[in-house]
Amino acid sequence: MGQVIEIVKGDITQLSVDAIVNAANSSLMGGGGVDGAIHRAAGPELLEECKTLNGCPTGEAKMTKGYNLPAKYVIHTVGPIFFSQQPNKPLLLANCYRNSMRIAAENGVKTIAFPAISTGVYSYPVREATGIAIQEVRRAMVRYRKIERVVFCCFDDYTYNTYLELIKE
Ligand code: ADP
Repeated sequence: MGQVIEIVKGDITQLSVDAIVNAANSSLMGGGGVDGAIHRAAGPELLEECKTLNGCPTGEAKMTKGYNLPAKYVIHTVGPIFFSQQPNKPLLLANCYRNSMRIAAENGVKTIAFPAISTGVYSYPVREATGIAIQEVRRAMVRYRKIERVVFCCFDDYTYNTYLELIKE
């Protein structure tokens, strides 16, 4: 079975995949950006389930159901804040992708979509973040052969074009 990476431009809440990844904050209580969009599209039951999870440390990931989303699951992960004192931000961002892929594989997810974690409000430079995202997803796909399709869902042209450029390397 082949495995594919796709790069698309659009709204991650609309994607018909087994799981979408949420770039959440450590409270898991909802927020702006992609987090707000996912909570609005999933409906209030998502927040109710998130309240039972006791938050999520940076770099780790926790899964919930998708409720009103086309996706069956949401994998909530917390990226590093670029202008913070957190040590080793590249490793923390890599861990978001690694842990999300691991939880996906453990739950039989075959198709998964990622937003550009940390590159919005958390201000991680898009080019650096994209390099980490592609590298870690490629590694994880070798490790988890049952994940068939990974979608990088980009919300703006700059992010989309950066993914298209770096995927060729
Ligand atoms: P973070 O706090 O991790 O930086 P943000 O949500 O602020 O998270 O931004 C992460 C990325 O998600 C940014 O590229 C932003 O443009 C993008 N984004 C915002 N809304 C959506 C959406 N509905 N679907 C996909 N990506 C989105």
